[in-house]
Amino acid sequence: MRTQRQRWNAAWKAVANLGAYTQLNRMDCCRTCAACDMEGNYKPGTPVVWTYGGQGNYLAFARDTGMARNDYQYIYHENGGAHLIVTALRNEGFDVEWDGDDTRAVLCRFV
Ligand SMILES: [Zn+2]
Repeated sequence: MRTQRQRWNAAWKAVANLGAYTQLNRMDCCRTCAACDMEGNYKPGTPVVWTYGGQGNYLAFARDTGMARNDYQYIYHENGGAHLIVTALRNEGFDVEWDGDDTRAVLCRFV
C-alpha cells in the first residue's frame, strides 16, 4: 500500500508534468513575500501551485509510516493551478476542499 507521502508526491509530480510551476514548503518570512519571490521563476500565465512552510506550516511526513504529521495543508495557486492540484490530489484519494473560487486556498486533509 502506498503511503500518504508517496501519494502526495505523486500528485505534485503529476501537476508539474502538466507544466505547472510547483513549490513545496516555501520558507519565506510570509506568504506575501513567498508569492513575490516566486514571480520571476515562471512565465506569465503559467499555472502555479505551492505550499507555505514557514510560521509552523511546514508539512512533514513520518519517516517510518509516511503519514503526514499535519492534519491538513493549505495549497495556494495562480493561473488555474488550483484545478490541476485538486484533480491530482483527488486522483490520489485525498480529501480535498475547494469551492472553485480562484481567490481561495485549496485545503487538503490528511485525517
Ligand atoms: Zn514577508
